[in-house]
Amino acid sequence: MRVERDLFGMVNDREIYRYTLKNDRGISVSIINYGGIVTDLWVPGFDGKPVDVVLGFDSLEEYVSDTAYIGALVGRFANRIREGKFVLEGEEYTLNRNERGKHHIHGGFHGFNRVIWGAREWKDDYICGLRLEYLSRDGEEGYPGNLSVKVSYILTERNEFVIEYLAETDRPTPVNLTNHTYWNLNGRDNGKIYNHILELRCASYLEVDKDLIPTGEITPVDGTPMDFRLPRGIGFGINRLREGYDHCYLISSYTGGLIPFARVFSPVTGISMRVSTTMPGVQFYSGNFLRGRFEKHSGFCLETEFYPDSPNRSEFPSCVLRPGNLYRHVTIHSFE
Ligand code: BGC
Repeated sequence: MRVERDLFGMVNDREIYRYTLKNDRGISVSIINYGGIVTDLWVPGFDGKPVDVVLGFDSLEEYVSDTAYIGALVGRFANRIREGKFVLEGEEYTLNRNERGKHHIHGGFHGFNRVIWGAREWKDDYICGLRLEYLSRDGEEGYPGNLSVKVSYILTERNEFVIEYLAETDRPTPVNLTNHTYWNLNGRDNGKIYNHILELRCASYLEVDKDLIPTGEITPVDGTPMDFRLPRGIGFGINRLREGYDHCYLISSYTGGLIPFARVFSPVTGISMRVSTTMPGVQFYSGNFLRGRFEKHSGFCLETEFYPDSPNRSEFPSCVLRPGNLYRHVTIHSFE
């Protein structure tokens, strides 16, 4: 195992470092402490040559001006909250409405993807990691309570890339942390994702309105392009949807423990990724709004999370963290 650090650039006169975690089996992952962004992740393909399986930019400037959350840590609440409003313990809160002035998305104008995180790297015999820390102040983007957040990115000799999210608060607050990496197991700049074979152990998903916010209806995937319970090509159903996939699936055997829910395979590189999580849902997003440096459908996200708009839906699993409780969630990506 090895951990390296190099200067990546400057933001507001502060140094931004890139940390690279490497195992002895040819996997390496780099993360910057601006936005906790995963900038690249190399996995050996069938011919032994390393393939960068995530979308990312070459310069810090591109990350600073990016609006697609490429590789970023997302919080305090990932996904949408209708009209940026919710009521918690009888009090109404108004968040910044950073989505077309109408709704709140991915933590607001200055979400965790724009934060300069405290960072410390560490290493052991079979595992190494980067621990990121941030104190989100009471009132930030409209959220109640001081929220202390610690996120660890970990690489193991078993080819696992683990993300562990911890948080504590001094007032009740919604918390929903995720990572917004766009995957392309064919390799960055290797075209669209249509030939990827995906399996999602999810029997239903949340119906959304025209603003992509849940209507409250839970729809079975049976007989629809949403059904990935048996592995099939992403391209198979994508054109039968308006823009592509941008839906929150319910993880079928969700218990609060770690559940394997996804497998993805690239027939081009032979690389496969399995994903497990402790979260109840996953937003499968097929990069529908990518523009510019990366074209539409050139990467997909599997954002493990609480359901969108859950602060306004008492029937959904609760995303509210209370003082004295520890928010702890884990998502594991295993490569072969
Ligand atoms: C959402 C998309 C959104 C993208 C970038 C995804 O998590 O589901 O609708 O366009 O993030 O903001």
